[in-house]
Amino acid sequence: MVAEASKEFERECNPWLAAEARFNRAAEKLGLDDGMRKVLKTPARELTVSIPIVLDDGRLEVFTGYRVQHSIARGPGKGGIRYAPDVTIDEVRALASWMTWKCAVANIPYGGAKGGVICDPTILSQGELERITRRYTAAIIDFIGPEVDVPAPDMNTNEQTMAWIMDTYSMHKGQTVTAVVTGKPVNLGGSRGRTEATGRGCMIVALQALKRFGIAPQEARVVIQGFGNVGGMAAQLMEKAGFRIVAIVEYDGAVYNAMGLDISALAKHRKETGSIVDFAGGENMDREEAMFLPCEILLPAARENVITSHNAHKIRAKILCEGANGPTTALADEMLADNKVFVIPDILANGGGVTVSYFEWVQDRQGYFWNEEMVNQRLEEIMVNSFNDVAAYSDSHKVDNRTAAYMVALDRVAFAIRLRGIYA
Ligand code: NAD
Repeated sequence: MVAEASKEFERECNPWLAAEARFNRAAEKLGLDDGMRKVLKTPARELTVSIPIVLDDGRLEVFTGYRVQHSIARGPGKGGIRYAPDVTIDEVRALASWMTWKCAVANIPYGGAKGGVICDPTILSQGELERITRRYTAAIIDFIGPEVDVPAPDMNTNEQTMAWIMDTYSMHKGQTVTAVVTGKPVNLGGSRGRTEATGRGCMIVALQALKRFGIAPQEARVVIQGFGNVGGMAAQLMEKAGFRIVAIVEYDGAVYNAMGLDISALAKHRKETGSIVDFAGGENMDREEAMFLPCEILLPAARENVITSHNAHKIRAKILCEGANGPTTALADEMLADNKVFVIPDILANGGGVTVSYFEWVQDRQGYFWNEEMVNQRLEEIMVNSFNDVAAYSDSHKVDNRTAAYMVALDRVAFAIRLRGIYA
């Protein structure tokens, strides 16, 4: 009985099954025929490459890399590359489709792609990582490019990795091609505002949701899980916009202040002590308790599957703004809907990152770089438009926001496919 329940919970937390459930629900609502569903589900191109490398100790090792282009119907593939020991082709395939839907919701002219290399970056030297990155790039070189597929950083890859990919690609082409990847350092063709983009996007959509409830930012209590890139930036920007950040939840504890935490002071405390706990400007709180505080906005920005059928009924937030990818399971969706929680789904809420990646690509191709104000203004325009598009589908089709976001995405990709026709 216990084993069965844990198996069921494992299924509930399987992100690919969750994505499929949501795809099917949206396809059903849109009345998509079986043929179109097949086209939308099947990746356009999948590549598996072997990466032979001489390690620092002289041994020869062969790593495996993947690049999956799920869809190129609306433009070049777009998506990160992750390095991890447990990367699988199934995972890369599912993440690539996720990118297709995210780019379509933001209405930026991209398809969806993802890459991965099976390796353990914690035991590899910088030199070994550089050789892996360059050989992987060479192996997929005919399948990437500014007009073809544009990689970006993901788990365990960063600006440096992107600089190596850009350099390797450019060496082969005999010219510098900055637009082949995004997430580059700012002085190497990167965009201003990229680091803050995902957190800023979360703040923008949270503001839109508050407007629907007639709540001013000053009246909004916010609980954030994860004080990293997304959560930390969102906290800073929301504090600046007048929100009251009452709790931050991290993996090793939570801090609470009913009057609002001083975010810069908390970041300084974490830098000095390595943790958010025992912060003088607040009190320590149990992590679970903090997640279930009554608040206007709960912003999970740490990892997947934190809101499940086991705890969704305890959420007392008015608005759930999904900064992380896949923080809520499909079963939890139903419970949140029963409790009238207004969900801003991940493929909408955290689209700010890929949107500013798109700006980086545009700037590289123009050879003309925007100031931060311009980046932020254009980001706001796109986030507000996508929020409104999803809200309009939700209102007119009488579906929850997540189903509406998938409907917007599927509808846009299906429209492009129909209009282009099936080439044979
Ligand atoms: P990050 O590593 O910078 O930050 C994650 C933070 O969450 C860390 O401070 C970590 O200590 C904390 N954390 C980990 N497990 C936790 C737990 N169980 N409870 C509480 N805190 C925990 O990562 P990030 O870039 O901020 O990404 C966070 C999420 O947002 C991920 O799901 C990622 O896929 C998604 N996302 C990120 C971006 C981006 O631009 N960085 C874009 C879209 C989506």
